Amino acid sequence: MKTTQDFQKERLSAGQKVGVINLGCARNLVDAQMMLGRLKKNGHRIVASDQAETVIVNTCSFIEEARQESIDTILDLIELKKQGKIKKVIVAGCLAQRYGKDLAKEFAEVDAFVGTPTLSRDNMPQQLQLTPKHFAYVKICESCFNACSFCAIPKIKGKFISRTIESIVKEVKELDAHGVKEINIIGQDITAYGMDVYRQKSLARLLKELVKVIKNIEWIRLLYAFPSHVTDELIEVMAQEPRICKYIDMPLQHISDHILLEQNRNITTQQTVELIQKMRKAMPQGFVRTTFITGLPGETNEDFEQLRGFVKEFRFERVGVFVYSKEEGTLAADMKAQVPEKTKKARLDALMQDQQAISSAIQQSFVGRSLKVLIEEKEDKSSDTYIGRSEYDAPDVDGVVYVRSQKALKAGDFVQVMITDAYEYDLAGVVE
Ligand code: SF4
Repeated sequence: MKTTQDFQKERLSAGQKVGVINLGCARNLVDAQMMLGRLKKNGHRIVASDQAETVIVNTCSFIEEARQESIDTILDLIELKKQGKIKKVIVAGCLAQRYGKDLAKEFAEVDAFVGTPTLSRDNMPQQLQLTPKHFAYVKICESCFNACSFCAIPKIKGKFISRTIESIVKEVKELDAHGVKEINIIGQDITAYGMDVYRQKSLARLLKELVKVIKNIEWIRLLYAFPSHVTDELIEVMAQEPRICKYIDMPLQHISDHILLEQNRNITTQQTVELIQKMRKAMPQGFVRTTFITGLPGETNEDFEQLRGFVKEFRFERVGVFVYSKEEGTLAADMKAQVPEKTKKARLDALMQDQQAISSAIQQSFVGRSLKVLIEEKEDKSSDTYIGRSEYDAPDVDGVVYVRSQKALKAGDFVQVMITDAYEYDLAGVVE
């Protein structure tokens, strides 16, 4: 499989106008930032994808739906190339990493399939930031060594690798110096950070180093934690350090011992309950974003009813639910007792309905409370309303806060907002 460097040397004549279409998750976005940073360094002009001569589609291959979106985008670009509107099509990212050879036979019009870039332990390449200037994603590790039975990511991403603390501190200091106000710490499993390079879970240690060096950054957000790798030390530093958001994205995936075992999640019902109770005690105002899978092979009605009971009892602030997707090459794909699609979907709908009632009650509880909000943009030129996020809203996946302000505000400003209205996922209020 070609790397982006090979492709550049071979196929991209200097000064090409290159654009990227990034699909999938924030981790893929950092890969796109690395690719564009390298292309810019090599003299190429980075433009919006609809202005480009060469378009890179950075694909996702997580589940069937994501693969279909990637394929559709490739087909659209091939059509543009046939019409002479673009000169070259490059397919990068997880789909290319996983199926590059087969896709190359199917899509002869594609100029190159390049695999996912390897994360450097020490020298993070210059990135071209694709997020708005006031927030950034910081990828601290790549891949993971948990072997969840339903997941193909470790097969796509390869060996688990953590960057050194020095390399991450250097990147964060640069972001801080460039006026970034919020950093989102990402990886496949950020709570395994350091288990390779430092032989122990080192996320808490990393966070302590980061808070020592930041001046402008006021929010550090943790995304993609693995429950059985969350340590007491991590909960403590989250609870005590005001600049670490009282928010964690931690997929639990299920709660019954039977299914947690089948998922190979390396945690039990009791341990999960104790972990959530510990977090709630340390951060009573804290938010947990989590996801669950319905319909893993062998899931019984009892397993599912146990999950419903758990979700109702622990009232998570942010919940996503996915139906089990059979992934080639995973353990679960060969499991007996595959659950019918109709049943999977019915269980997803039931869980989302339960959660809707919980979410709107939690939203309502913010009316009359004061919240710190990071302004992202003005709703539109004429209005006095701005769109922002609280520490409980991760970029792109959670809700927003609509902020009415007589005073002119700009992206990156922090304001205190009195919440006056609550909607299903969003809040609204007025600057204090
Ligand atoms: S933690 Fe599990 S679900 Fe997440 S990337 Fe690793 S193997 Fe996949």
